[in-house]
Amino acid sequence: MQQQFKTESKKLLSLMINSIYTNKEIFLRELISNASDAIDKLQFESLTNPDVKVDQDSLAISLSFDKDARTITVSDNGIGMTEEELDQNLGTIAHSGSQAFKEANAEHQGKDVDIIGQFGVGFYSAFMVSDRVRVVSRKYGADQAFAWESDGLEGYSIDPAQPGERDGQGDHGTDVVLYLRESTENDNTDQFLSEWGLKDLVRKYSNYVRHPVQMMVTKSRQKPKPEDAGDDYKPEYEDYQELETVNSMKPIWQKQRSEVEDADYNEFYKSTFHDWADPARTISFHTEGALTYDALLFVPSQAPFDLYSKDYEKGLALYSDNVLIQEKCSDLLPDYYNFVRGIVDSPDVKLNISRETLQQNSQLRAIARNVEKRIHSELQRMLKNDRSKYEDFFKNFGRGLKFGIYSSYGSKASDLADLLLFWSAKEQKLVTFKEYVDAMPEAQDKIYYASGESRELVAQTPAVKGALAHGYDVLVCTEDVDEFMFQFMRSYHVDAVAGDSEHKGTDARDIDLANVSDANLDLATEDEKKAAEQANEDNKDLLASLKDDLDGKVTDVKVAASLDEDTPATVSSEGPLSLDMERRLAEQPGAPEDAPKAQRVLMLNPKHPVFGKLQAAKDDEEKLKLYGSILYDQALLVQGLPIGDPVEFAKNVTKLM
Ligand code: ADP
Ligand code: MG
Repeated sequence: MQQQFKTESKKLLSLMINSIYTNKEIFLRELISNASDAIDKLQFESLTNPDVKVDQDSLAISLSFDKDARTITVSDNGIGMTEEELDQNLGTIAHSGSQAFKEANAEHQGKDVDIIGQFGVGFYSAFMVSDRVRVVSRKYGADQAFAWESDGLEGYSIDPAQPGERDGQGDHGTDVVLYLRESTENDNTDQFLSEWGLKDLVRKYSNYVRHPVQMMVTKSRQKPKPEDAGDDYKPEYEDYQELETVNSMKPIWQKQRSEVEDADYNEFYKSTFHDWADPARTISFHTEGALTYDALLFVPSQAPFDLYSKDYEKGLALYSDNVLIQEKCSDLLPDYYNFVRGIVDSPDVKLNISRETLQQNSQLRAIARNVEKRIHSELQRMLKNDRSKYEDFFKNFGRGLKFGIYSSYGSKASDLADLLLFWSAKEQKLVTFKEYVDAMPEAQDKIYYASGESRELVAQTPAVKGALAHGYDVLVCTEDVDEFMFQFMRSYHVDAVAGDSEHKGTDARDIDLANVSDANLDLATEDEKKAAEQANEDNKDLLASLKDDLDGKVTDVKVAASLDEDTPATVSSEGPLSLDMERRLAEQPGAPEDAPKAQRVLMLNPKHPVFGKLQAAKDDEEKLKLYGSILYDQALLVQGLPIGDPVEFAKNVTKLM
């Protein structure tokens, strides 16, 4: 059977074959991982299906090479593949990563980037070193093996295997035979055709694979001394072959942290979770007692490309007595830590597994609680001791933490709020809630935030400028989730601080969060407030007619107490929905025509000359209407918000001139 690769796959393959990718040697780790997965699958079958009987001790991966034929063979006696599975699994590079790969590829066109490493193209990495690959596989229980073969260029063939290829009794499993390309000066493939070369790669990348990786190695031994040897006998040596297990096999997560080099953790992480960058944090812990388990967790330093797609699956690998129970056990991780990768291994987790029983498993819940605690304290430690790394972390994963608060209706705020960072309008850097609160002037009793499309836009809105002018810092929020999260949080809890002789202690308290562009927020001083009250009173009729003129657009028109002197007017909101929330709701895909709207209030600056013009036009109905409309539209424009009718705005401006 002759088949063509899909166009996208072809592009990927040719890129891989011709790449200057420096890490070509990862091909071996990919093939060994696949072999190990195949053994896991068979082992798992044998535990759940009484018809599947395997001799656990015989399960192994074997590695061999033939210098003259220039081949390397990776074999396993795992589950094997049927003809259809060969076609499906090896015929298309149909990982969810392929779309992302295409994008990254377009973006980095021509640059020497590590896209291959990024997307963990698995099996296909074999083509980086081979000009032909033959896969012979026999599914467990099948009576026939099939052979898949390809040069990695156009297509592949699948045919019944040749006599002698996996045709023995119960000879299930897979052989992957690589026909290495010729060695050249900058593409040295010869290095892989040696015992040491291969051993080296196994130790480097696959040392902790749980199944034995075996290889025939040549050893030397002294020949026995002949009976009749004279006094001048010199010992003689001979070479012999011995099957050796090349990898260490003791799972890395069972080792104490002090026994393992960081480099080994990093390598394990990269090969197991298909990342090309070292993890930002490694968390290893061991618990004994009522519930015994080992856990090894990693905080990646980069967000996986599909983290925010709906295909992304969170979860930790769950092992019991060295058998993989579930590759992604999602109950072990809360959604807001969905980026954490890792392994939990517990002999106490029972094997009679269906997803439902796992979910209800109280042991699992206990582990999950502890996992969450450990992640939390590790993140806090990173925030405290390694700020710049934490800021990178937050750039990648902060949005998820905020969603944690949002989707728990605020109930997770007490855990997560202290992990958040916001851009400070005053400090021009990222700050925590705590840092913000510590820097608050005594008179300030709220945490102010402002939300909008970008830091620049938000910084120049009248509300933010006003707050800064009064000495109050503002947290600048530019992510969709921010303000919705604040709605549920409402306040930030500050713990009590004990006093000592030098410092005054403070009580625990909750500090309200407030949007600076809320119409009812008063940042103003007592004097300013009094003046505004007076102005509202004095101009009652004027404000009322302006409100009538802007009928349907605003719920009120008021004199503002504290606008900076260059700003004639601004649009604020009243009630739970802010203008920026309105914008974000409307921008959501599939938002209805009548998506909820903020209640807008036009706030006028009595100290601005324009206010005088309004007063003068009080009795000229048409003129006042024109002024009001222009003022309203331009205030929206300044705040980066859309105006209802640009044509009318243009017409009005022309009329005015
Ligand atoms: P991944 O391992 O990430 O799924 P790969 O490209 O490495 O992607 O492999 C593709 C698929 O081919 C695997 O998911 C598996 O189903 C199948 N496969 C590869 N190697 C083997 C093997 N040695 N035994 C059984 N199946 C295999
Ligand atoms: Mg793989």
